[in-house]
Amino acid sequence: MTKEEYKVRNEVFDRSTIKVLDKFRKEYYEEMEDCISTGKEANVFKATTKKGFVAIKIFRTYTSSFDNMNDYITGDPRFTSVKRKKHDLVYQWCKKEFRNLSKAYELGIFVPRPFVCLKNVIIMEFIGDNGVAAPLLKDVRLDNYQKMYDEIIKIMVKLFNEANLIHADLSEFNILYYNKRPIIIDMAQSVLKEHPKSMYFLKKDLENINNYFKRKCKIIEWDDFIKKLKLE
Ligand code: ADP
Ligand code: MN
Repeated sequence: MTKEEYKVRNEVFDRSTIKVLDKFRKEYYEEMEDCISTGKEANVFKATTKKGFVAIKIFRTYTSSFDNMNDYITGDPRFTSVKRKKHDLVYQWCKKEFRNLSKAYELGIFVPRPFVCLKNVIIMEFIGDNGVAAPLLKDVRLDNYQKMYDEIIKIMVKLFNEANLIHADLSEFNILYYNKRPIIIDMAQSVLKEHPKSMYFLKKDLENINNYFKRKCKIIEWDDFIKKLKLE
């Protein structure tokens, strides 16, 4: 184990997380394997099952960088323990991602199929072949950028019109490339249409995607994009 691996292990696998993972072992996976990604708030691991693999996303409860979390915590009389309050926020965040993924999945939007969620852990479909995780869109060269772009726009419209959702952190960093298709991931921050800043987030998502594709294919501008949306 390298120093870095040791650090990750200590930060991620606190007692409560180990309990959750133990609960799900056998029913959802057999053995946990490598850490696929160490992000700001979560780690994603690969785990084996009888039939193949699953991805396990674990939100860190101690060292997650929810920058202004302290603002929520200090002085709130409902919670006597600061630690408790912070855990609860992380759990809500995790549950939100699970719900958003579930909603999208039910509508046939390409996202990893979510299986189960408890506290700070989500177990979902592993996107990849033979245990090798699919690459991010940012790391692949495509033959047909137009096709990929059009498909991503369609997903954004469908998410909005049918799932009521705006991804709110969409970019080439949160799209996996698998079977020549875009698979959308990382939906903890996704918001409902009703959110006061939803259109601001949607515009930002389109900007990110357009910036990535603008030198590669024909893109759609915001004014034309919103014509596709069902707005009340
Ligand atoms: P973060 O909040 O850390 O950005 P993500 O949900 O974006 O969390 O996941 C981090 C990384 O883990 C992704 O960039 C991707 O490489 C990998 N990953 C996430 N989910 C899956 C999955 N279901 N199958 C394969 N790889 C995944
Ligand atoms: Mn991400």
